[in-house]
Amino acid sequence: MKIIMLGAPGAGKGTQAKKIAEKYHIPHISTGDIFRANIKNGTELGKKAKTYMDQGALVPDELVCDLVVDRVRQEDCRNGYVLDGFPRTIPQAESLDATLASLGESVDYAINVEVPDEKIVNRMSGRRACVGCGATYHLVYAPTKAEGICDTCGAELILRDDDKPETVLKRLGVYHNETQPLIDYYRGKGILKEVDGTMDMADVFRAIVEILGA
Ligand code: ADP
Ligand code: ADP
Ligand code: ZN
Repeated sequence: MKIIMLGAPGAGKGTQAKKIAEKYHIPHISTGDIFRANIKNGTELGKKAKTYMDQGALVPDELVCDLVVDRVRQEDCRNGYVLDGFPRTIPQAESLDATLASLGESVDYAINVEVPDEKIVNRMSGRRACVGCGATYHLVYAPTKAEGICDTCGAELILRDDDKPETVLKRLGVYHNETQPLIDYYRGKGILKEVDGTMDMADVFRAIVEILGA
């Protein structure tokens, strides 16, 4: 099962992608997480990506596509995967389709998690990320047991630099210009599925399981 998560920054793609990966035993591939890991490890890719990410801009397609194409060809992706944060532009979607076509494969579902802009800034200002394992929480909607400390690994939680309101507004603009056109792209292919992302996390997941099948 090959799944793509679509939606604005903060719509809940990562939250749902992790649950999907767990339930269906497929890898969760987040390009944002891959870039952040590269930044943390000080790699060349990380250095290049950081300048764009800090500004709320997209990392250029050529830096993203090769990475994803390599990743989906790995052994653990044989039974599928859930892509979170990729594709984000039409050229990225075309690159993925071309790679899959050369393997005789295609994307099965593009799940669009819909949340209106006015709710996004609130979601993002409350998002907290673990510096150790990358787990995501929310001050109000997904709080940790002990304040400021990751439930999973005990490391410290931070507000991502690019989750500050001014950068979030920029990222939303980029989303509408560059990423939203993918909704029509996948609708045209007949694989678009839409879910209401304003519901509780558990209800959003129920709606997704209804689409994917138990
Ligand atoms: P994305 O991957 O789309 O950027 P996340 O999954 O990181 O979004 O979610 C953004 C923030 O909103 C996180 O702090 C997360 O805990 C919270 N969140 C996710 N889904 C919901 C939901 N259905 N209701 C309320 N808050 C949510
Ligand atoms: P969010 O979960 O809030 O939507 P991500 O973690 O997916 O954010 O992405 C963080 C940043 O990483 C983006 O703002 C962008 O700069 C970069 N990035 C991640 N995935 C891509 C991609 N597919 N194409 C271009 N840039 C990307
Ligand atoms: Zn952690």
